[in-house]
Amino acid sequence: MNVPTATALVTGASRGIGRAVAQCLARDGFEVYLTYVSKPEEAAQTVKEIEKQGGKARAFHLDVGDAQAVSEFFAAEIKDKVQLAVLVNNAGITKDGFLIRMRDEDFDRVLAVNLRGAFACLREAAKIMSKQRGGRIINISSVVGQMGNAGQINYAAAKAGLIGMTKSAAKELAGRNVTVNAVAPGFIETDMTAALSEEVRAAYVEHIPVKRLGQARDVAEAVAFLASDKAGYITGQVLAVNGGMYC
Ligand code: NAP
Repeated sequence: MNVPTATALVTGASRGIGRAVAQCLARDGFEVYLTYVSKPEEAAQTVKEIEKQGGKARAFHLDVGDAQAVSEFFAAEIKDKVQLAVLVNNAGITKDGFLIRMRDEDFDRVLAVNLRGAFACLREAAKIMSKQRGGRIINISSVVGQMGNAGQINYAAAKAGLIGMTKSAAKELAGRNVTVNAVAPGFIETDMTAALSEEVRAAYVEHIPVKRLGQARDVAEAVAFLASDKAGYITGQVLAVNGGMYC
């Protein structure tokens, strides 16, 4: 019998946390479908690194903020084409600014990518996974969604929204053997945090009990656990990977 390889879809896996997640899931035996939006060469590099380790991966352009593009992508590449075992909603952006100066378009775009983009992928994956009676969905939230952060009202709202979405979807899909969890990273060394000044970085580290920023791999291993058979009885939870910050 020809049993299809289980596929894991990871959004925004051209670099940073998504790339590390893609690598861990490929190591764990999944064929990885990874998406990018602006950096095809970085996405190709992720694929190359996975293949070098003996894994299977394909990269696709997909702006998760474009709901139509998301449903077209699922129709063209996922539905009835692969056995979708895992969805990791990782794609995310920041457009920081203080509340009183926050522009509508910066608020809307951050919500469109980080929250509605995850919702669009979640909805498509839920239809497929419900039908196949199994699957794992992991949404990448943030410590900022749990604690709030000055200058990130849009991002904090989106990341807090992801937690509510995770808990609701977990309740809806539990009977179909589909688990839905969130991972809430703290401050992780990626392009997203590379722009922080030394001063701001030192101030963050001061509040992290383990006294360092996290690595993408720290987050990826938590995602890989939630995607594994070992996590079958865990759903609707938020796993903090933040070096011990209390939220
Ligand atoms: P990153 O290095 O900036 O990478 C962002 C990824 O998202 C890239 O692959 C990017 O693709 C993709 N992306 C951006 N806009 C997209 C869109 N509209 N549609 C599809 N993909 C898009 O970020 P990161 O630090 O790895 O963060 C990954 C996730 O973890 C995000 O959801 C972020 O909010 C969350 N997080 C990060 C931290 C942290 O400290 N770094 C902490 C908590 C949570 P391109 O490369 O093609 O542009």
